Amino acid sequence: MEATSRAFSANAARALGDAQLQDALGTMMREGFGARRAKAVARLPEFEALREEGKTLKNHVLQNLDFYLETWERNVIARGGYVHWCRDAAEARAAVLAICHGTGARTVTKGKSMVGEEIAINDYLEANGITPVETDLGEYIIQIRHEGPSHIIAPAVHLAKEQVAESFRAAHRGLDPARPLSEPRQMLDEARAILRRQFLAADVGITGANFLVAETGSSIIVTNEGNGDLTQTLPRIHVVLASIEKVVPTLEDAALMLRLLARSATGQEFSTYTTISTGPRRPEDTDGPEQYHVIMLDNGRSALLGGEMQDMLRCIRCGACLNHCPVYGAVGGHAYGWVYPGPMGAVLTPTLIGLADAAALPNASTFCGRCESVCPVKIPLPKLMRHWREREFDQKLAPPVARWGLAAWAFLAQRPALYRVASSLAARVLGWAGRSRGRFRALPMASGWTRVRDLPAPEGQSFMSQWAARR
Ligand code: SF4
Repeated sequence: MEATSRAFSANAARALGDAQLQDALGTMMREGFGARRAKAVARLPEFEALREEGKTLKNHVLQNLDFYLETWERNVIARGGYVHWCRDAAEARAAVLAICHGTGARTVTKGKSMVGEEIAINDYLEANGITPVETDLGEYIIQIRHEGPSHIIAPAVHLAKEQVAESFRAAHRGLDPARPLSEPRQMLDEARAILRRQFLAADVGITGANFLVAETGSSIIVTNEGNGDLTQTLPRIHVVLASIEKVVPTLEDAALMLRLLARSATGQEFSTYTTISTGPRRPEDTDGPEQYHVIMLDNGRSALLGGEMQDMLRCIRCGACLNHCPVYGAVGGHAYGWVYPGPMGAVLTPTLIGLADAAALPNASTFCGRCESVCPVKIPLPKLMRHWREREFDQKLAPPVARWGLAAWAFLAQRPALYRVASSLAARVLGWAGRSRGRFRALPMASGWTRVRDLPAPEGQSFMSQWAARR
């Protein structure tokens, strides 16, 4: 997926003018996952304690990541699986292709995987003559529309059902063009009938992993459609796309994280299907793959260990920060221009595609703090976005006017007496200049504000003088 994060402003402006998208986002923010999460959390008094436990657990794993990854790898191999360590997306794609070529695969079914999106595996497989078929309904819809996901757990949340029906008619050419497709159930049945055939035809099944369990060498995925089970048990080969921060020590730890994940993501107590895969099929098993492979992706994550962005490696991709973000709720996921949108994307994307290409994202926040307050593992997202803004300033990536303005402000802020004189002088000049109307319709260096609203002219005493007078 080509990144357009540099064009965030233009993407956002387009999104704000898209009436259908605004409708879909409005419904999602009013009645969607956020409201359901609030109800689920209210039913569980110990939820705050669980968040603290989740944070502590993930921090412990990150501090001992080498140990848990080695333990996990040993146990995967002991149970007959293969581990493919991949430094970057190119290595991960090559590893998947080699597995497919090794088995002569022509069709691959896929369960939802954000790592799959990160390494753009679908395009790569297609370019190499292999047909990938998404089996999660939302992913399937955006695949036939040739779009990327707009949300990490609800990839097609930006669409109205009429748009989905239109896409089905265009993609499923062999079916009766006059068939009714006005109800979600009709579309679901149609997709199910098509996907059933693909499940049976697939040579390889690719899934993501919500968690990897070190003590057993297992991978865990959760779905609400059951497509993950069919993707990994029907084909001869099961390939798991995972990344290094997904490992947890024990099954008990995984249970804690699953409780946090389901409530934070969809407001469920537990996801409908939780599937634990441990190696290939054993002689006594009635089903399962002949081979079990895990593609273990780093892609810049290990470089975050020990640094100011390490907290981001706690992320369990629940999507709660997106569901509560006023910026995401106004512009949707595609405006962010790459795989990961919303507050988590604003922190993660610069680490994965580089700050120069994604510097607009950490600036797309009001710092209201809702993201941090709902994050199940307490990631201080606003603080991490602020770190990126500091790096943007250090690396001279911000526009010159913004840099000079910030440098001038920093100079004054370090000299309180001078700051008081300068701010009082500026307030007097602005107060005098705006005295007739009481507001400005245009102001140099404030055009971003005055283009869409008036700026009130300063009046009366400054805060500093009032404070001094009260003391
Ligand atoms: S940053 Fe927190 S809230 Fe956002 S997706 Fe990750 S775990 Fe969920």
